[in-house]
Amino acid sequence: MEQRIERLQAGGIIDLHFDLPMDLYEKRERENVLAAEFLPELKAGNIGVVGVAIYIEDRYLPDAALRVALDQIARLFAETQACPTFAICKSYHDVEKAFKEDKIALLVTMEGAEPLGTDLDLLRIFYELGVRSMGLTHARSNEAGHGGIFASSGSSKEGLTEFGRDLVRECEALGVIIDLAHINPAGFNDILSITTKPLIVSHTNVRRYYDIERNISDDQIEMIGERHGVIGINSVLVSPNEEESTLDRYVDHIEHVANLIGTDGVAIGFDFFEFIYSQWPESAKKELAEKLTTPQFIPDLRSHSHTRNLTRKLVERGFSDEEIEKILRGNWLRIFEEWL
Ligand SMILES: [Zn+2]
Repeated sequence: MEQRIERLQAGGIIDLHFDLPMDLYEKRERENVLAAEFLPELKAGNIGVVGVAIYIEDRYLPDAALRVALDQIARLFAETQACPTFAICKSYHDVEKAFKEDKIALLVTMEGAEPLGTDLDLLRIFYELGVRSMGLTHARSNEAGHGGIFASSGSSKEGLTEFGRDLVRECEALGVIIDLAHINPAGFNDILSITTKPLIVSHTNVRRYYDIERNISDDQIEMIGERHGVIGINSVLVSPNEEESTLDRYVDHIEHVANLIGTDGVAIGFDFFEFIYSQWPESAKKELAEKLTTPQFIPDLRSHSHTRNLTRKLVERGFSDEEIEKILRGNWLRIFEEWL
């Protein structure tokens, strides 16, 4: 068993959603944060690629959104220059090269189009800086569209704005992977209707186990499957209840997607953010609980160093090695190859 886990881990694991840039930005007075605070856990968990999301907190909106986004990217460049174990990757070839050189590839993503305002030309700038995946919204509304709320109904019935539609078309043309995580159901349908490439949902959970519009329904899972898209399973919204927030329930989400669209359609988007959450004062935690939800961290899957527990659980639950390799990396690699 241990040898089998070792072998499955050794190929590298791809996690497509991590709030790293925002933390680096908040710690911008310091140097080597990436090497000191993140490298050990990423190494321990055999992480090969991480999708690092530019995200702008409410307090910077609207005026500072662009500046903070650019500063977050600046921190990524400075920190990776200081620690050559990391490589910012802009193409499938770059990712392959990073794997070969035993480096950890960072794929820069954007969660919420707020930094663009309504200026489509800025997408080109962010593309040049390395942004390779775009989720139009977080939970809130912006110039592109509306987020799905953390309740079983009540999200905006409006789809994308005209700008949102232009942005999606431009992403598809440029080669910026379109990420449907967080978008409301109407926006989800709009994006499907104006694109043709395989779409992703970088970090989400299935509504069967956590019924909120921020997550995805069986119909939506099937729509992604028909596109040969991929859904990354989130570790902090596996259940509304603390006692049901277990590693087995995490694998239930994987299994549910696999049952509907096959193991080609499911992957990893851990969204680990306990390291940020734990830095917050009680007032901020209370605000998050009131506005969205209280995250439930899975005891044995709460940081990148815990990926071995997941691999072991997938083996125990009867997945074949071939299936596990697809879930841990192969499916995201296929998306990179098709888009980047
Ligand atoms: Zn998110």
